[in-house]
Amino acid sequence: MRTLLATLLLLGAAGSAVAAELTVYSSRIEDLIKPIFQRYTAETGTQIRFITDKEGPLLQRLRAEGASSPADLLLTVDAGNLWQAHELGLLQPVQSEVLRANLPAHLRDPDGYWFGLSIRARTLVHHSGRVKPADLSTYEALAGPAWKDRLCLRTSKKVYNQSLVAMMIAELGEPRAEQIVRGWVANLATAPFASDNEVMDAIVAGRCDVGVVNTYYYGRMVRKDPSLPLKLFWPNQKPAKGELGGVHVNVSGMGVTAHSKHRDAAVKFLEWLSAREAQALFAGLNLEFPANPAVEPDAITANWGSFRQDPINLAEAGKRQADAVRLMDRVGYR
Ligand code: FE
Repeated sequence: MRTLLATLLLLGAAGSAVAAELTVYSSRIEDLIKPIFQRYTAETGTQIRFITDKEGPLLQRLRAEGASSPADLLLTVDAGNLWQAHELGLLQPVQSEVLRANLPAHLRDPDGYWFGLSIRARTLVHHSGRVKPADLSTYEALAGPAWKDRLCLRTSKKVYNQSLVAMMIAELGEPRAEQIVRGWVANLATAPFASDNEVMDAIVAGRCDVGVVNTYYYGRMVRKDPSLPLKLFWPNQKPAKGELGGVHVNVSGMGVTAHSKHRDAAVKFLEWLSAREAQALFAGLNLEFPANPAVEPDAITANWGSFRQDPINLAEAGKRQADAVRLMDRVGYR
C-alpha cells in the first residue's frame, strides 16, 4: 500500500495526465466487473466508480443527463445494445492502434464507437443420448423436417435472438432468413422459453432434443452438474451459400460516452481491457471467450474446443435489429 501511495505521489508530482477517477455505466453485474476494476486501480491508481442497471434505464439516464453526465464509459452486452447507444448519440469515436491490434475487426464498431471485449457464442446444444453430433450441421438445418417437434428456443423478445436473426438477414437476405426462422417455428416442440436455462432444462426433461443457447449458460450448468446429459455443437463450420459463415458470436463491449470529461483516461482503460491480463479475467468471470484472439479462454471454456466464428461485423446486428423483430413477428415466433 505504501508503495502504491508513493507511486501515486510521484505520478502527481510529474503532472501525470491520468485521471484519478473514471465512471462506468454497466449492464454487466457487479460480480463480473468489480474484480477487474479493482485490478486496474491497483495497477494504475485510477479509481473506477460504477453503477449497474439494465441497458434500457442506462441509455435513458445517459440521454437525460446529457452533457452533465458523470459517465465516461458505457459497458453493455450485445452489439445490438451498443449500436443503439451509438445511434442515440451517446458514444464518441475512438481511434486507437492498441485496440485495433488487440481486437478483431468484426467485434468492434467500424468507426470506433464501441469495442467488443468478450465473445458470447450462441451455438447449438443437444441431448447427448438422443442426438449424435453427426445429426447436426447448421442453424439453417434446424428448419428442416428432421427436427419437427424436436426444437426448443428462447423467446424472440430477447436481444440475443434478435441479433442472431439480424445477422441472418444481413448475410443471407431477408427472404432466406424468413424461410429459416419460419422453419424453426414449425419445428418447435413447445412455446419459446424465457431463458436459455429453460431451453436446456426442457432438453434434459425430454420435451425436445436440440436448442440454441449462449455457451456460458451451458458452462454454469455443467459446473453445477458435470453429469448433465447435454453437449454443445459448433454449427456452420464449413460455410456454404445460404448459411451463416460460422458460429454466431456476440460481445460484451464498451464505448466512451459522448460527454466523457476524461477521454484520454477512458481510452487508456479500454486499451488495458483489451490486453492479455484483463482479457483473461473479463472473459473468465462469465465463462465467455476473450475477444483478443491471443488470449486463451478459461479451462472450462477451452474444453469445448475452438471454432470458426461468423466473420461479419457485429454492427449489422444493430442495423438489422428492427427488421429482425418484424420478421420474427411475421412468422409467429413469440
Ligand atoms: Fe446472458
